Amino acid sequence: MLEDGDCMSGVPLDDLVNEILPEIIQIRRKIHENPELGFEEFETSKLIATYLKDLGLEMKEGVAKTGVVAILRPVNPKKEKTLLIRADMDALPLQEETDEPFRSRNPNKMHACAHDSHVAMILGVANILTKLKDQLQGNVKFVFQPAEEGPGGARPMIREGVLKDPDVTAAIALHVDSKQPTGKIALRKGYVTASADDFHITLKGPGGHGSAPHMTKDLVLIGSQLVLALHALPTREVDPLEPVVLTIGRFSAGTRHNIIGDSALLEGTLRTFNEEVRQYLLERIRETVDRFADLYGIEVSIDINPNDSGYSAGWNDPEFTELVAKAIKSNLGDDVITWEEKPIMGAEDFFEFGLNKSIPTCMFFVGTKNEEKGCVHSMHSSHFKLDEDCLPIGIKAMVSAALSYLKE
Ligand SMILES: [Zn+2]
Ligand SMILES: [Zn+2]
Repeated sequence: MLEDGDCMSGVPLDDLVNEILPEIIQIRRKIHENPELGFEEFETSKLIATYLKDLGLEMKEGVAKTGVVAILRPVNPKKEKTLLIRADMDALPLQEETDEPFRSRNPNKMHACAHDSHVAMILGVANILTKLKDQLQGNVKFVFQPAEEGPGGARPMIREGVLKDPDVTAAIALHVDSKQPTGKIALRKGYVTASADDFHITLKGPGGHGSAPHMTKDLVLIGSQLVLALHALPTREVDPLEPVVLTIGRFSAGTRHNIIGDSALLEGTLRTFNEEVRQYLLERIRETVDRFADLYGIEVSIDINPNDSGYSAGWNDPEFTELVAKAIKSNLGDDVITWEEKPIMGAEDFFEFGLNKSIPTCMFFVGTKNEEKGCVHSMHSSHFKLDEDCLPIGIKAMVSAALSYLKE
């Protein structure tokens, strides 16, 4: 654990960060200008690989298509520990509407979830930890992950062995937070994010004239009944003390006021924290849809998590999170941390690296709200603007957490 001061290898952490900050800001802007969607982060991963190679790290490219993994080994390994530090790299399909000089040059692609800043900060962390490697007692594995915004790059990376050789003993990540003011870091012990599963339902039956519904299967009416039946599952079959969200975000059917169409499409998402509730409801959704086939004499099909897109609930291991909080406070001050009262129903696939709580995971949130600079729009908004003053804070917090974990 670092003591109050910030002396590392004789050089204060602030100085180490300030030295690389202009470069980190340039990297962030460069990635911001050239956003790439999930599993298409080719230029981004090239930039990452070049930077890591220059640091002299052991590297693997093309993990889960565009992912990059680098390993920093200690000079004198004393602990069987490997800390995985993850940054996500993908942008969102959104047209940027900010006035930044380095705004997106790619139409309908934007780093509106600030993953550009995550990459830049973790490259900065890799740079500083490389300089401090004589202080490490275990390995650091830097994981640059594709497709966080869906369908998810963590699981394919795990399947390609990212948690092995050396075996990961804890995983950590940061995410920018547009609700917290710059200078604050939000943390929570226990659940942080919900599980997320998407389902796609198709209904088919004979269509016909709107004046003769008895000669058809009216899929607008049947689909409407199905929406109600699905909504009854979480509200009537699950303990009301278990938080669940079921949303049918898309219901599309028909072409014209007097035609009964021959197909309908429903798409929805299911969110919860309890794995048992999650599995129960997914099964009941499937069963309910299947029963509608018999009940109305129509054809149905349901596809849950196509492209392996389901995310499990995010869990911040309480003990590991306490260690991270202490390390951050020791370098950034006691009042930097805000403890979040509630988790969110949003989802994050970083927590897949925890393999259902068998590896301690922790994600902390770096505030980037700054009214004076107009950094007030929420993430995923086409107006979202990052306050770059959050970059040194995120870097310092992550370096502190990593050193603390690998020294304990
Ligand atoms: Zn996002
Ligand atoms: Zn994000």
